[in-house]
Amino acid sequence: MIIVHAGSEVVPYSKTGGLADVLGALPLSLADRGHQVIIVSPLYPSVADKYKPVREPLSLSIRLDAQVHTADVYSIAVNEHATAYFIANDALFSRDGLYVDKNGIDYPDNAQRFIFFSRAVLVLLKKLGIKPDIIHTHDWQSGLVPVYMKALERDYYRGTVSVFTIHNIGYQGTFWHFDMPLTGLGWEYFTSDYLEFYGKLSLLKAGIVFADAVTTVSPTYSREILTPAFGYRMDGVLKTRQHDLFGILNGVDYAQWDPAQDRFIPHQYTRETLDMKQSNKVTLNKMFNLDTTDAPVIGMITRLAQQKGIDLLLGSINRILSMGFKLVLLGSGDKVYEDRVQKIAAGHSGRMSVRIGFDNSLAHLIEAGADVFLMPSVYEPCGLNQMYSLKYGTVPVVSTTGGLNDTVMEYNPSSEQGNGFKFEPQNAEDMLAALRKVLDAYHDRQRWQRLIRAGMAYDFSWKRSAADYELLYKAYLIRSYLHGFRDANGSTNT
Ligand code: ADP
Repeated sequence: MIIVHAGSEVVPYSKTGGLADVLGALPLSLADRGHQVIIVSPLYPSVADKYKPVREPLSLSIRLDAQVHTADVYSIAVNEHATAYFIANDALFSRDGLYVDKNGIDYPDNAQRFIFFSRAVLVLLKKLGIKPDIIHTHDWQSGLVPVYMKALERDYYRGTVSVFTIHNIGYQGTFWHFDMPLTGLGWEYFTSDYLEFYGKLSLLKAGIVFADAVTTVSPTYSREILTPAFGYRMDGVLKTRQHDLFGILNGVDYAQWDPAQDRFIPHQYTRETLDMKQSNKVTLNKMFNLDTTDAPVIGMITRLAQQKGIDLLLGSINRILSMGFKLVLLGSGDKVYEDRVQKIAAGHSGRMSVRIGFDNSLAHLIEAGADVFLMPSVYEPCGLNQMYSLKYGTVPVVSTTGGLNDTVMEYNPSSEQGNGFKFEPQNAEDMLAALRKVLDAYHDRQRWQRLIRAGMAYDFSWKRSAADYELLYKAYLIRSYLHGFRDANGSTNT
């Protein structure tokens, strides 16, 4: 198959979160399975400076309302089966942050930036003469692609299947209705059946309504988002697509996250050399100025956002530390949380230490050096760090939501089955009860090592997820062939 993946961030070129990890790994896993893969994302300054992509001999021009914008196109041949294309427009994408300025405020022209990107993806493929079998887009930034495939670009993309993945339903790409003309779509698309969402324009809704198949990043999350508690008001819309909605767990890129060959940590290790993990703990303790007692170290690497359960953590921190744990936290995000965690840490020097910022190499050291990894998320579509933690022999303690629920199995001390500990989201007493169980297990050294080794044996590689996506693509290609092409109004047209 010819498979296109388009999205706003792709590892190693750009990253603010898990979306980038997925776009960096899934397309390459599909390429490994023999498919021809194209990845499309914007050209940010980080890409141009560091990876020196090659300028393609073509340019795109795209009308957004009254203005025509142009884009140059750059590319990198990733391997024999995969090419990454970058859409370049300095005025729109040459900025320090991907979506927000240095104060964490959304850029005021985000609608324009990503409407432009979504149009550019389809115009680019057409210019290159590529007729994909599948166009798979991700999150609100590329949510309009499935709409354009059935509207403005309908003739060219007839027979191409669109797949849209929701990585986090909390981010809906909602803009005031005055941005509607930028889309190039008529006002007939601004209805509650299509792009209108409580009086505004939602680019996430656009993807959900128009894609042939909608996926999200874990089976539990695919059920949760159909409920008002998790759906962020999009549950009603999703219910109308329930039969085309699937949960496929993200994978881990073990080329990046494997303690046996991790270049970011001082001591590589395997299940057989766990004493080296202990040496990483010593380095971590030093790096974070923690005291040298052999207390279990809890690690956290997280966006500092309400979703991640930071309130639950902050409300329980004194009790966690007085149970005998130490805590290291690496994170960035909401200024209010950044200030609060730093202030609390200052009152617990030697036992709790915080680094504010985004630091990949430190993230690897925390995974390697911590004993326990805490994820108290209010909701978690998939979550990657709990899977990294398992590989690094760092026991995950997580709330029972989304992908955390699907990947962490409660440890049973009698049977020694399971790989971590779970608690109810937003329930401080339950979290502390889980941490007490952790202490019991931790203090039985033999038992703890068996638990660590069992976790390290789990395989959450992309191979399995890529095979699931491949099945989905094939199923929808067959369906599209048998049913004929469904146009924007829902009528069929073979
Ligand atoms: P989300 O996408 O909701 O932030 P995920 O668990 O899916 O959460 O992915 C987060 C990714 O970003 C992981 O690879 C994690 O290690 C990384 N990450 C998050 N915060 C930081 C940080 N401050 N420094 C380095 N890496 C981080």
